[in-house]
Amino acid sequence: MTQKIARFFQEQRPQTPCLVIDLDVVEQNYNDLHDALPDARIFYAVKANPAAEILSLLARLGSAFDCASVPEIQMALAAGATPDRISFGNTIKKEGDIRRAYELGVRLFAFDSEPELEKIERAAPGARVFCRILTSGEGAEWPLSRKFGCDLTMARELLLKARDMDVQPYGVSFHVGSQQKDLMQWDHAIFQVAQLFRELEVLGVDLGMINLGGGFPTRYRTDVPECTAYGQAIFDSLRTHFGNHLPETIVEPGRGMVGSAGIIESEVVLVSRKSAEDPKRWVYLDIGKFGGLAETMDEAIQYPIEVLGDEQEEDREAVILAGPTCDSADVLYERADYKMPMGLKAGDRVRIHATGAYTTTYSAVCFNGFAPLQHYCI
Ligand SMILES: *Cc1c(COP(=O)(O)O)cnc(C)c1O
Repeated sequence: MTQKIARFFQEQRPQTPCLVIDLDVVEQNYNDLHDALPDARIFYAVKANPAAEILSLLARLGSAFDCASVPEIQMALAAGATPDRISFGNTIKKEGDIRRAYELGVRLFAFDSEPELEKIERAAPGARVFCRILTSGEGAEWPLSRKFGCDLTMARELLLKARDMDVQPYGVSFHVGSQQKDLMQWDHAIFQVAQLFRELEVLGVDLGMINLGGGFPTRYRTDVPECTAYGQAIFDSLRTHFGNHLPETIVEPGRGMVGSAGIIESEVVLVSRKSAEDPKRWVYLDIGKFGGLAETMDEAIQYPIEVLGDEQEEDREAVILAGPTCDSADVLYERADYKMPMGLKAGDRVRIHATGAYTTTYSAVCFNGFAPLQHYCI
């Protein structure tokens, strides 16, 4: 945890649950990624954390923005991004929203199907379009496969069709899955994209851009490769499959940009057992799946959790962690091996680390009367 966050908690004693984001860490993450992939344009995936302070900081640093809706586009514009630094990267858009984005000046749109391409032609004539291809999502802790992208044959046909429409076929995108720890996954996708570029070139369609998506990880309970390793692996793949003819590249980091910048402080509401013999204590926190920790679904993302004032490791025993709502789906970790001190009691505070990404945006408006996750950017 950074000094700045430690001081904030100590001096402000904010109501829990709350998320505190250290903007200096976001800036560092941006610079690290920029250094690791100096030729790629960075489009921050706004959905990971749309706090105005984060967007303004990134706009000032020169970042572009990957947006999935008109409100996200408006937030990026309000933060100081010009429309040429915004892409409408969702492949599932209402035609009216495409038109609105076009009116706001956005000229870069994603698609993965024929009807979506037709919508873009009608609502955003002349715009640049890129086709998203399917990936397996293998190796990712939070896969994004199946729902997005089309296969290579369809991508070829659609980009060929786009040539004869009132849009500019501009490139191809993919997303290897979020929290992707297998560097080779980019290689598989880049190999396929290079093939597609060559096939289309023969047919007279010159694509200029490859969008490498997100997937850059945050360190949770286990180590992840360094940012520089991702940069090197991606650069090597581009060289291998494209030779000296490197296309323009885009990356869309979400988690990797903000995950490590945030810490949630939460309070223990209850510690109990289900029977006198119950070997595991249940620990109920004042934050759960509906308060922002949705990525604990299937225990996929395992945040490091620290109990304040706990220094004696030998005193810890296994617990089941759950949220405060009256919904039995609101259990955070049952199988993952979390241990907490035997003396833990209601009122104690815990810190949930690496929670800067996909938390505020996943917190429900007011399920069971619990307020959405409060946040402070410092
Ligand atoms: C969510 C999303 C991202 C960000 O993914 P991370 O794994 O968080 O970096 C990037 N691109 C698109 C199209 C997305 O939907």
